[in-house]
Amino acid sequence: TASTRPERILAAVQKKATRGDARSVVNTIDQYCRYQEWAMNVGDEKGMILDSMVCEVKPSVVLELGTYCGYSAVRMASLLPPGARLLTLEFNPAYAAIARQVIAWAGVEDKVVLIEGPSEEWIPKLKEEFGVESLDLVFLDHWKDRYLPDTRLMEECGLLRPGSVLVADNVICPGTPQYLEYQGTQPHSIKIEGDITLGGLFPVHSRGPAGVPCGEIKREK
Ligand code: SAM
Ligand code: MG
Repeated sequence: TASTRPERILAAVQKKATRGDARSVVNTIDQYCRYQEWAMNVGDEKGMILDSMVCEVKPSVVLELGTYCGYSAVRMASLLPPGARLLTLEFNPAYAAIARQVIAWAGVEDKVVLIEGPSEEWIPKLKEEFGVESLDLVFLDHWKDRYLPDTRLMEECGLLRPGSVLVADNVICPGTPQYLEYQGTQPHSIKIEGDITLGGLFPVHSRGPAGVPCGEIKREK
């Protein structure tokens, strides 16, 4: 029997989700985590914001910080345009092993590069090792004290360009005050639905006017 939560999530996927059907994998994890045990996936409500960002940005390269069981990776990868890639970073080998199986079950393994290791070590290697020119979309969902240093690191490494979009979860709870303060000094950062921020280095066209400080825009439904 499965002894860890990620193992139990994988078991639920293998039992209930249709192989090759990413939506079915996402729904199975949502159901399991709603009725059986909570897990730190971004979840369906905020997941829909991620979905809409992927559809709007139409990224060629997405970076996710924090894979866990692969829930948000499957969600985003299934919506990528043809030829696009999602790079996702996870430093816990046990979680990475589960995520690989969840991603394969969903049939999106061709679009996902799962990198095992700490973000601070891998961000500086993305250009050389993975041929990344710049990141179109970044999803920050790893440990909260890394949001700001990793954003600065991505900037230093030339991975962010005007038009790069950063989406950050859990900026309120557990909270990332320094990241929020930093993004607040960036004119184009907006906060949506309470606990996820959207910050670009450039206005994100349909999300409201540029120059509106963090926290003043509510996402339109
Ligand atoms: N994005 C996932 C989802 O919605 O399905 C959930 C990610 S979970 C909230 C955060 C994950 O980030 C954990 O699995 C943790 O091991 C990983 N993590 C935390 N700090 C990290 C770092 N500096 N580098 C790589 N992975 C990290
Ligand atoms: Mg989160």
